[in-house]
Amino acid sequence: MKENMSLSEEQLQESMWIEIIKRMETIYAELANNQAEIERKNRELLQAKEFTENILKSMVDALIVVDSEEEIKMVNQATLDLLGYKKEEIIEEPVEMILASPKEKERPFNGSYLSKFKESSVQDLEIDFKSKSGEKIPMTLSSSVMRNSEGEIIGIIGVARDLRETKWLLAEAAATEAERAKAQELERAYKELKDLQSQLIHSERLASIGQLAAGVAHEINNPLGGILVYSHLLREDLKADDSKGANVERIIKEATRCKDIVKRLLDFARQPEPKVEPISINVVLEETLSLVKDQALFHNIKITKKFYPSLAHIMGDRSQLQQAFMNIILNAAEAMDGKGSLIIAIDALPDSRFLEITITDNGCGIPPGNIKRLFEPFFTTKKAGHGTGLGLAITAGIIERHNGSIKVESKLGEGATFTIKLPLETKGK
Ligand code: ADP
Repeated sequence: MKENMSLSEEQLQESMWIEIIKRMETIYAELANNQAEIERKNRELLQAKEFTENILKSMVDALIVVDSEEEIKMVNQATLDLLGYKKEEIIEEPVEMILASPKEKERPFNGSYLSKFKESSVQDLEIDFKSKSGEKIPMTLSSSVMRNSEGEIIGIIGVARDLRETKWLLAEAAATEAERAKAQELERAYKELKDLQSQLIHSERLASIGQLAAGVAHEINNPLGGILVYSHLLREDLKADDSKGANVERIIKEATRCKDIVKRLLDFARQPEPKVEPISINVVLEETLSLVKDQALFHNIKITKKFYPSLAHIMGDRSQLQQAFMNIILNAAEAMDGKGSLIIAIDALPDSRFLEITITDNGCGIPPGNIKRLFEPFFTTKKAGHGTGLGLAITAGIIERHNGSIKVESKLGEGATFTIKLPLETKGK
């Protein structure tokens, strides 16, 4: 019996050991499994770490992480390259070290900033960083707050971009723009100078021609007067049926024409100052038209008047302006060979400081080469004996002395438009 009992005890012990060994095996197997799992997780963790490090390494922008004590905890390679520090020189250092004496409101990493921006992130804040060598680097910074599971702020992650190239490009663009504007201004000034120079040459030429004309006219005027007086006396002495009568008439006619030319020359040379009074341009033009419209040359010309309705006044010399308009209108009628359309328009310019008078015909027009010379004295395309070339020179002189301007536009074969601008009478001046 005793023997039996001891056997069963032995058996029990054996089965216990078997059980223990089995358990151990299971535990070992589980341990081995766990080990493989841990190794796999470790590998994954390592890969994830490498991946993140690669991203940080290849980032062009600077990445800076600071803790709530304003100490730098992490930076990427771009930050080190930008600021010229080694990693160990920058980690655990206060962030102030890499900022260029920031103004209070621009201190995104300090305590006050943290309390101020607890809830929000910062986008594109312009801020100056400071490199190891002390260079100030303008940057644009975006940052966000990091919190722990209790919601407390534990630091800030900032990403900053170097603005130097952008600023340089902007400055370059501004400089180029400024240079372009300067060049344009220079070109304009140069053109103005050239215009002024040619105006000067022109007016000097006009003045010397004027002097010459005045001298010649003066010399001719007296003998011409003599010729006219004596030819009139001769005609009176001749009998009515004297065959020489026609010749004397011819002398009187030609001498009168000469006297007329001389008078125009003297008018041109003298260029009398206008006797100004307030006048209505509408009235002046109406009077001018009434002087010419009954002439045979105008019988087949349709005259259209487009007059500014309010009878605007200017300060001017009525008879001089009449003469100026008359010259233009007669030329137009001749250019149309007595048939066509003449449009005379008066309008106030939008700035209300000038009146604009346009006289348009649909006559032969002016060759481009002649346009520049049109207002020169003695420039004429008319047959000898038909034009002195003084009409438009006198007209231009009159308009100039009224502080106005005159220009002509024309298309050969289609007609011409003369545009005259005269200053309006300004009250209180
Ligand atoms: P003139 O009439 O004595 O020739 P102007 O100085 O009045 O002198 O005119 C100069 C020239 O301008 C004219 O000979 C003519 O060739 C040209 N001209 C003036 N007005 C016109 C016009 N409306 N159409 C075509 N040519 C014109």
